[in-house]
Amino acid sequence: MSGRYHYDLLTIGAGSGGVAASRRAASHGARVAICEQDRVGGTCVIRGCVPKKILMYASEFADALHDGPGYGWKMEGRFDWAVLQAQQAGEVARLERLYQSMLRDAGVELVRGAARLVDAHTVQVGGSTLTAEHILIATGARPVVPDVAGSDLFQTSDDLFAWPELPDEVVIVGGGYIASEFAGILNGLGSGTTVLARGPSLLSGFDADVQAALYEQMKARGIRIVLNQPVRSVKRSDGNRLLVATAVSTLACDAVVAATGRQPNTASLGLEDIGVVLGPSGAIPIDEACRTRVSSVYAVGDVTDQVNLTPVAIAQGRSLADSLFAGVPFWYRADDVPSAVFSQPPVACVGVTEQDAARDGLAFDVYQTAFKPLKNTVSGRSERTMMKLIVERESQRVVGCHMVGRDAPEIMQGVAIAMKSGARKIDFDRTVGIHPTAAEEMVTLRTPRAGTDSN
Ligand code: NDP
Repeated sequence: MSGRYHYDLLTIGAGSGGVAASRRAASHGARVAICEQDRVGGTCVIRGCVPKKILMYASEFADALHDGPGYGWKMEGRFDWAVLQAQQAGEVARLERLYQSMLRDAGVELVRGAARLVDAHTVQVGGSTLTAEHILIATGARPVVPDVAGSDLFQTSDDLFAWPELPDEVVIVGGGYIASEFAGILNGLGSGTTVLARGPSLLSGFDADVQAALYEQMKARGIRIVLNQPVRSVKRSDGNRLLVATAVSTLACDAVVAATGRQPNTASLGLEDIGVVLGPSGAIPIDEACRTRVSSVYAVGDVTDQVNLTPVAIAQGRSLADSLFAGVPFWYRADDVPSAVFSQPPVACVGVTEQDAARDGLAFDVYQTAFKPLKNTVSGRSERTMMKLIVERESQRVVGCHMVGRDAPEIMQGVAIAMKSGARKIDFDRTVGIHPTAAEEMVTLRTPRAGTDSN
């Protein structure tokens, strides 16, 4: 390794991708520093996956209250938002300390301050000028709010984690991951919840049967969903309520949360000055091995605005470190990345949707079921679980799997391994089920229908 520079790798951004890459590089013997201007842990740990899932667990107790009497429990629930907020903030702080100690133990130097690239090997941070053979940008993304009148009244999921009180009535603008997840959380915890989406469905880009099942089941849980209505304005009424207007309706609420996508954090990095041309949203274009147009500068995770998922950033980061410092060919591939939406009920999927398959002219069959899980019989809950497999007809490979229902994310991880291994439908069929579970339906689907628009 070269002694010309202070470090072999200098990472900007101590979130999931940056920390994973830095630790892996250090484990291969590289001299590594990581710069961070905010809290160590990034979006996932500090204001994303982790606190969100704690809030989700809290809201799921509403299901137990609802379902318990059918099982003989007499229960009365009183929920204390302040306790929950203190608990999630405490866990986030614990994880932040853990991340700091993991970096220390790995021998990665943590440099505090905002970083700016000066040239292809030089970064200015907190008054110091640091040089490195390789520079990794892992600065993530931040929420954007719609550019409409009164946009300063929008809050985002970042703000929600610091709310001192739970609002009585919330409008969530957007229909994607965050809108679906926080609608479930807030509804379960007792806020009146409305999702206001500009498109014709929730979760655009997901399988149409997933969209339809989630829509029905969120509504059945009491969440109001308004589709096809772009937000036009937000204003405060005389009575100190918020009025969220579209072209055809006005919704009154106590808080309005914009869950309308995210923008890469690249504005002040000086990237364009060193020859990295940014995409329209400020994203950093990279090749398949995470390299930018400047050969010593790399980027992973949300800052590239490709597959904006924590485990993808981690896989990209580790793959990069292995390739730079251990001679292992870059191994992360963007195909068959499983993902989950922690809505209530949750969604999980891997591979192609039925609509993708039809658009791509694939000849395929669909195996699909919707059933009432055993738990919902005695409890009286009407919710059904939806599962579907997309099977390429000629090879008989399972190329897509989609599920809406309890435990979907837990089940999908195993299906993703099978699909990554090239499993065919007969491999599913010959796998013995685990009984009684919902997951066993994955291996008992027998009757196909022809995929939409396929021959
Ligand atoms: P998404 O891209 O999932 O959804 C954005 C939503 O906002 C879409 O419904 C979009 O509509 C809508 N939208 C965008 N701009 C406007 C606008 N100006 N006015 C009204 N609606 C608008 O983004 P999220 O913010 O929900 O989440 C950001 C990303 O973070 C996700 O894409 C995902 O990658 C990641 N994430 C992952 C999670 C997980 O893995 N469980 C959880 C949370 C986030 P349209 O569809 O019409 O474009």
